[in-house]
Amino acid sequence: MGFLDSIRARLRGHTGARGSGGGRSSFSGNDTSYWVYAKCGRCGEPLRARINLMNDPSRDDDGVSWVVRKGLSGSGAKLCFQTVEVTLKFDAKKQKVLAQEAVGGEIITIEAYEALKRESSDKQTGTSESVDR
Ligand SMILES: [Zn+2]
Repeated sequence: MGFLDSIRARLRGHTGARGSGGGRSSFSGNDTSYWVYAKCGRCGEPLRARINLMNDPSRDDDGVSWVVRKGLSGSGAKLCFQTVEVTLKFDAKKQKVLAQEAVGGEIITIEAYEALKRESSDKQTGTSESVDR
């Protein structure tokens, strides 16, 4: 009995201690900034921008929620200078995104952003290697 209980307790502890920092929200420990991630609709470059929740949002027409507009432009590495216009709507406490939309691209998750980033840097090292040889 005691033996099983200890295993059970251990299993419970393990499942409880899951999560390698994998919250799906983009709100980091610093709750005054919010990172938005987008993908350029023209060249597919991953873009990101930091939103300062203290200063950037302005009251929406409803007087309750907050709206932020950000222009995300690429590095120019792909000779694409498109700006992705992102609009985010936050709730009254600026803790939740109620709506989001992007013009000129699409909003993506941080996971997708990092995957794209990895992909493009892989490609870059690949080409520079073949040039060297
Ligand atoms: Zn682009």
